[in-house]
Amino acid sequence: MILAILETAKNALSEASLETVTAARDLAQKTNDSVAALLIGKGVRALAASLRGVSAVLIADDERFESYVPEAFAKIAAAAITQKSPKIVLAPGTETGNDLMARVGARLNLGLATNCTEFFVENGALKRVTRSNWGGSLLEEVEILSSPIVLTLAPHAIAAQSANGAAPSVETLSVALSEKEFRVRVRELIPSEKKGISLTDAKVVIGGGRGMGSAEAFQMLEELAALIGNAAVGATRVATNNNWRPHSDQIGQTGAQIAPDLYIACGISGAIQHMVGCKNSKKILAINKDAEAPIFQRADYGVIGDLHQIVPALIAELKRLKGA
Ligand SMILES: Cc1cc2nc3c(=O)[nH]c(=O)nc-3n(C[C@H](O)[C@H](O)[C@H](O)COP(=O)(O)OP(=O)(O)OC[C@H]3O[C@@H](n4cnc5c(N)ncnc54)[C@H](O)[C@@H]3O)c2cc1C
Repeated sequence: MILAILETAKNALSEASLETVTAARDLAQKTNDSVAALLIGKGVRALAASLRGVSAVLIADDERFESYVPEAFAKIAAAAITQKSPKIVLAPGTETGNDLMARVGARLNLGLATNCTEFFVENGALKRVTRSNWGGSLLEEVEILSSPIVLTLAPHAIAAQSANGAAPSVETLSVALSEKEFRVRVRELIPSEKKGISLTDAKVVIGGGRGMGSAEAFQMLEELAALIGNAAVGATRVATNNNWRPHSDQIGQTGAQIAPDLYIACGISGAIQHMVGCKNSKKILAINKDAEAPIFQRADYGVIGDLHQIVPALIAELKRLKGA
């Protein structure tokens, strides 16, 4: 059996979970196994019937599980693995999924490969996986010797697909939990103050780096984004460290991973830690006064010059074209 440990968000299975269950089904076909799913959360029982291509769903439904409770979730997931003895355990490679599976691995003394992108099956058995590191700039091939094999799936490594078939059987998993398992818990969720379209949804992202020089200068990037439409403003770590922008605007290895149609990088040198966050952009336009800046090696279009002249000129031209 392959056990898919899934996440829910706002009373629905998260996209990463739908990808995970798709990957589990694909793997099960190759290894001739069945798939079971584990749902931990508040009100998750209602979601079990929507899963298809899964023979059984284990449920840990509890009022106290509105948000992730690391130690309680890990105890439950470990209990499910011990009871069901799956060959492979697969969870989403999200922040939560990776945290949870590291805890499960530690509890059961199992190896863990996070953020897997490919699975190599030989003679009906999973032999190796490829895992993504450093925001995708390093791919590592891993053999896992412990059993069961515990993995997480890199988000967007595969596309989620629906399946047909009968509704799964539903089984309640009861695991005794003490206060100790609730000592780490989410007390409050504070939504980002960012208004408008998110960095990951925007078709055009305009990033500002050290070359912007100040928080005030980002105002012109906001103006440019508003004129373009369906656009958002992001930043490098230098800009967020200088408090010119909130951390939630950071693009890169330790920030958002974006894939817009166009990324306009203003006053950004093109450090690897920044580029891993924007490398999936369909086109990159760099504006930099240094013709030798590394970003020009990755850019599709480049403007060599002072952004404080070029961005206002772009704004003026867009306004002229729009008749504003
Ligand atoms: C573990 C780790 C994780 C990291 N994670 C991230 C991350 O997630 N995201 C991230 O961005 N960075 C990250 N960094 C930092 C990264 O290494 C770089 O330091 C950072 O990306 C550089 O930002 P920058 O391009 O704004 O600044 P700089 O590298 O200083 O480049 C500024 C550029 O602006 C140009 N410029 C200056 N003035 C003007 C002007 N008037 N007009 C036009 N161009 C101008 C300069 O020519 C230069 O190329 C990380 C670093 C580490 C060690």
